[in-house]
Amino acid sequence: VLGKQLPHRFNVMAWFRVTDIWFEMIGDKKGLQCRLQKLDLADKSWWAALDSSDPLPLNQRNFDIRPESIKCLYCHQKSPRIYDSGWMCLNPTCNMFWKLVGNGAAPTSLSYHCSFLNYRVDPTTNPVPRYQLTPSYLHVINALVRDTIREAWRGIICPFCAHCISRVYWRGWKCSEVPGGCHFQLMLQLNPIAINQVTSVSLRRKIRPNKLLMLPVVNDRSAAPYRQLTYTLPGVGSITHFVANRQITSRQNGPDDLFRKFQEIDLGLKRFPLKQSQGK
Ligand SMILES: [Zn+2]
Ligand SMILES: [Zn+2]
Repeated sequence: VLGKQLPHRFNVMAWFRVTDIWFEMIGDKKGLQCRLQKLDLADKSWWAALDSSDPLPLNQRNFDIRPESIKCLYCHQKSPRIYDSGWMCLNPTCNMFWKLVGNGAAPTSLSYHCSFLNYRVDPTTNPVPRYQLTPSYLHVINALVRDTIREAWRGIICPFCAHCISRVYWRGWKCSEVPGGCHFQLMLQLNPIAINQVTSVSLRRKIRPNKLLMLPVVNDRSAAPYRQLTYTLPGVGSITHFVANRQITSRQNGPDDLFRKFQEIDLGLKRFPLKQSQGK
């Protein structure tokens, strides 16, 4: 319909409202289609051709024009004429549904009729958008600096060049990662998380008898301070699990220290696109 190649795979265009919903055959199934109309008709669309004229002022438009609507001879329901190839009944329960009058065949080429494309519903009845399409997240992010909250996982809109920047880097956002982006970057001060914030107080869990699970032999002496759990697999061998505890993990240069050090150095962590991903 646009007659134009859009710059990205996904494009945020404008706020729209639904003006028409109708049934048609999509492959061999009946499916719904809808027609959208831009909410702000006075605003020139960013995707309009550069040499196209400005939109006609609202007070010079006739909002009473509607595409031709015809009553079906079989089901007596009205349907608008949507396609060039001719009028069709769009009532999905009618025998004449999606058939051209005269030869009763389904249309082969689907191009929209100009009166269906060009009519506009009076914009004064439009709902008002509740959100900006390009919200500024900077005030949110300034509040984030102290923490790692859900919003910080997401992308932001560059305050300088308005490109969308996804959260690729562990520490923040870089506009230079985006094709055509600028040099803006926002790196967060990430405070190391203490180990006791992410693990339960006791590492030693009670072993509860469960008929479905194999019970290990518990040995707290041989490898102390490790607890040794041995599972014997009949005819196979055995598996021994050395269970750590707070005394072990809190040793100097032990696992707790490792957990803290990993957060203090820059490991160069970043997100890479999935090979099978559909979007960017
Ligand atoms: Zn009909
Ligand atoms: Zn930028």
